[in-house]
Amino acid sequence: EKMQMASAREEKILVLVRLRPLNDKEIEANEVADWECINDTTILYRNTLREGSTFPSAYTFVFHLISFAHVLGIDRVFRGDNTTREVYEEAAKEAALSVVSGINSSIFAYGQTSSGKTYTMMGITEYTVADIFDYIHRHEERAFVLKFSAIEIYNEAIRDLLSMDSTPLRLLDDPEKGTVVEKATEETLKDWDHLKELLSVCEAQRRIGETSLNEKSSRSHQILRLTIESSACEFLGKENSTTLSATVNFVDLAGSERASQAISTGARLKEGCHINRSLLTLGTVIRKLSNRRQGHINYRDSKLTRLLQPALGGNARTAIICTLSPARSHVEQTRNTLLFACCAK
Ligand code: ADP
Ligand code: MG
Repeated sequence: EKMQMASAREEKILVLVRLRPLNDKEIEANEVADWECINDTTILYRNTLREGSTFPSAYTFVFHLISFAHVLGIDRVFRGDNTTREVYEEAAKEAALSVVSGINSSIFAYGQTSSGKTYTMMGITEYTVADIFDYIHRHEERAFVLKFSAIEIYNEAIRDLLSMDSTPLRLLDDPEKGTVVEKATEETLKDWDHLKELLSVCEAQRRIGETSLNEKSSRSHQILRLTIESSACEFLGKENSTTLSATVNFVDLAGSERASQAISTGARLKEGCHINRSLLTLGTVIRKLSNRRQGHINYRDSKLTRLLQPALGGNARTAIICTLSPARSHVEQTRNTLLFACCAK
């Protein structure tokens, strides 16, 4: 029984790895794919492809997750021919849908710029919303309200992605709701088309001030939040009606290269430090959550972890999808991401 309890608890944090295929640009540039997933649980670094290479053998990554899963802590590896729906089904569906029964959750995409974070998170957000609408239609005995908000954390400043106003928003400690973003726009989600509309507003807002593709999104964290409130119809409006409320967060993190790169000048240094802090704090918080002898968890060390505190730890479900590029030129960053994945729990 003890064992069962321990494993149930561990499963509250899922860590998955997604290796994307080489993209057209990389193929055109004669890039070589050095990483390969040979099955659902094993990713190989084939440095044998490096003819006459002096690449140190320490770079050889072999994950036999069947035998080492509990040591390495990665639950599943997805390869280039796995669809986002497959990733959703395994990585996020259970966590995301637990929101209808009042359980908070957070789904993260972690990885270097261009590794597939946005591609993965967008798909997962859409599948989740479709499934939630489906659930709502099949449960007419309850009344549901879906609220959507979207913010960006850039340089430890919070911006509303659903508003044209770029004034930074403050985090407030609400005695009932916990940490909330003051004045963040909350849209009541009507249907699927409404979601698509809001997502394109976010996309446009996120690109303001961006000098090149991926330039700013590589340095900011984007958090899409879906809050679901529900109550049994028969009690609706009555004083003793119990309302369930929970939030699911879709977090498209800043490029992880920001956490490891030394950025040397002016504003870039400040950005680097802040982003570094958010990513590092997130890593620390997640590691502490999965460690049974927890001790104090420093949620307040970064805006990201402070905001997500109600959806991290406790009863909350967490999934971290670590995205990888297979390209030879990205081997260092791929290795860093895998190290993060291995240490996450
Ligand atoms: P990131 O958000 O990590 O910077 P993107 O999600 O923007 O990366 O992905 C970079 C490029 O790779 C995009 O053109 C995207 O369409 C493509 N891509 C990412 N992941 C996949 C995948 N699993 N399969 C096919 N193409 C992908
Ligand atoms: Mg992106």
